[in-house]
Amino acid sequence: MILAQLPRLHLSILAKPSFSLSSSHFNFLNPKPPVTVARTLFSLASKSNLATVEPLPLPVSDSSDLDDAPVEISLDKLFIPPETDVSGYDPASLTARILKGSNIVLSKYARDAQVVQADYVKSSVKTEDCPADGLPEFALVGRSNVGKSSLLNSLVRRKRLALTSKKPGKTQCINHFRINDKWYLVDLPGYGYASAPHELKQDWNKFTKDYFLNRSTLVSVFLLVDASIPVKQIDLEYASWLGQNQVPMTLIFTKCDKRKKKKNGGKKPEENIKEFQDLIQGFFETTPPWIMTSSVTNQGRDEILLHMAQLRNYWLKH
Ligand code: GDP
Repeated sequence: MILAQLPRLHLSILAKPSFSLSSSHFNFLNPKPPVTVARTLFSLASKSNLATVEPLPLPVSDSSDLDDAPVEISLDKLFIPPETDVSGYDPASLTARILKGSNIVLSKYARDAQVVQADYVKSSVKTEDCPADGLPEFALVGRSNVGKSSLLNSLVRRKRLALTSKKPGKTQCINHFRINDKWYLVDLPGYGYASAPHELKQDWNKFTKDYFLNRSTLVSVFLLVDASIPVKQIDLEYASWLGQNQVPMTLIFTKCDKRKKKKNGGKKPEENIKEFQDLIQGFFETTPPWIMTSSVTNQGRDEILLHMAQLRNYWLKH
């Protein structure tokens, strides 16, 4: 399991010579990582030493090339967390520190990632009504049908927890789930309902934007994007708005188990992901963190939890 592997990883990070950036040097909103190693291309091995994804619960059709195709990421496209020095690493060691199916380098803050308890707490209609206990939180948001509920259930290993957010009256709310009594997962209303009335869309915009801009305990927004279909304008607009407003964002590419189909433009998830990243490049000073996921195979679940853990533990310390 994840926790069993963390101490080893943690120690090996600390054992490397490193320089520390003070917190004032690092801004999670616009991270400027201390990249000092040669800007070569790294081929991301499909098996990182953190690959703890459970056996496939369902057979997935035509997925033989899913995990084994190496993804090439240049160094300046990596997300290097604060207080993480990669200058002493050769490409192979650095590659081993990158979370599988992502551009995220692990830091010494990646601990206590496991979810042992998850409880629905409340549904709020405005930011001021959200829990006031000061615990850090991560907000999941995305187009309706992107796979948000499935991902939430997969993260907490419960089949139906996210159903709470789908009950009548709660789909337009900020729904808080407390994890391990230490932090929150927040389910925000899905956007892009073609049939939603204009006033509702406007309201939704105002309400979620207010939450993003004023929720002081929000560590990062997790913007879900369906990787099985061609890039959607509305997702680009959303990412652009978050970037322009310097709201910290992680991109979660969903449905990565789905292979190319003619009706979807014939592209693989990897190709849609690359296109999305190319299109949003201009909105961000540095590449935001991203992770490939599937709620069918549980791809990316442990990686998301580790990423959340490192963001959260850093946030708590500063
Ligand atoms: P939400 O509206 O964003 O909460 O989306 P849901 O979680 O309800 O999922 C919408 C549809 O996509 C459902 O039919 C799910 O079974 C399907 N789905 C969700 N996640 C995945 C995934 O990772 N892979 C595949 N193949 N289908 C998924």
